[in-house]
Amino acid sequence: MKITGVRAHCLASELETPFAFSQGWVKARGACLVEVQTDAGLTGWGEALCQGLQPPQIAAAAIESALKPLLIGADPLQIEPLWHRMYMQTRDYGMKGAMIAAISGVDIALWDIAGKSLGQPVWRLLGGAHRERVQIYATGFYREAGQGEAPRLADEATQRAAEGFRFLKIKLGFGVADDLAVMQAVASAIEGKGLRLMIDTNHAYGVADAVRLGRALAPLDLRWYEEPVAAEDLAGYRELRAKLDVPVAGGENEFTVFGFRQLFEARAVDIAQPDVCAAGGLTACRHIASLALAHGVQVNPHVWGSSVGQVASLHLIGALPLANPSLFADEPVFEYDCSAHPFREQLVDKPLRQRGGWLDLPTAPGLGIEVDHGALERFRA
Ligand code: CA
Repeated sequence: MKITGVRAHCLASELETPFAFSQGWVKARGACLVEVQTDAGLTGWGEALCQGLQPPQIAAAAIESALKPLLIGADPLQIEPLWHRMYMQTRDYGMKGAMIAAISGVDIALWDIAGKSLGQPVWRLLGGAHRERVQIYATGFYREAGQGEAPRLADEATQRAAEGFRFLKIKLGFGVADDLAVMQAVASAIEGKGLRLMIDTNHAYGVADAVRLGRALAPLDLRWYEEPVAAEDLAGYRELRAKLDVPVAGGENEFTVFGFRQLFEARAVDIAQPDVCAAGGLTACRHIASLALAHGVQVNPHVWGSSVGQVASLHLIGALPLANPSLFADEPVFEYDCSAHPFREQLVDKPLRQRGGWLDLPTAPGLGIEVDHGALERFRA
């Protein structure tokens, strides 16, 4: 089998209601889907992640100009050698960011082809399932005004609890006083319902404010505190871990086993959050998971992509070992974004659907989805 075509599809969709996270206003959804074609008639799909403010055209240009020439004519089942070829040939100008997101998109598509060609779901090719279903957590709680939205966010928490979510991750980083008002309102809205909360400031603060927030929220017994400081500030992460009891999570803006090595060596995180569509694909996430295991760190992937990225993440989470297993260990949970996103509803034949707060691992060969070409045209950027 040979690769005959590599295409990057840039998609865009304006949001009816723009929303904010701590780093800016999201006015449109973008996605970069990757299609890899073969002479055997099999097509694989992948995705290069667009972080909240990232245009899809950057990864698309990297795929078309830098990666495609390395792939045409190659055997798509040579997944690991192709990953190394893509990484090593772009290393001097790549290593992080959109270049690695581009490699991620191609890599996921190659795993999809491998699964389709062998008649097996991707999680089986990754070594098999540590779990057959994955519990989800609600990501949402974005802002429509910015500050002063505690009552609306408390209502959102009530709604998510009624929908069956057992875990809610609250977006913070809008000023410590506003953050505390939000958490007080959310915590009272779900009091006694047995839910667990996480927080995510998207690195809005330096160490002093990040510690102040973490200490004030200690009574809430948060499951984790995500991206408390900037991704480059490994010493800041380490300081925070020393000063707070809450598990510290991070890594959605880190890449490959080389980047995560620094995170682990610095003892910066309790929970590592690579995004399969950004950190280097399923191949790189396997490398990262092994290294995390050796450091006693649990991998719990970040998920923010379209249907393609979501399902690739689900296969990965199914195949992730527990770093610290026990009878009643905290299993990895799937980030289920509840904000408006047409690329999660309209792009593939079988979008993920939660049932009672859980997702079942797909059983069809490859990723287990087919992309709707009509939808690709409708949303083409
Ligand atoms: Ca995050």
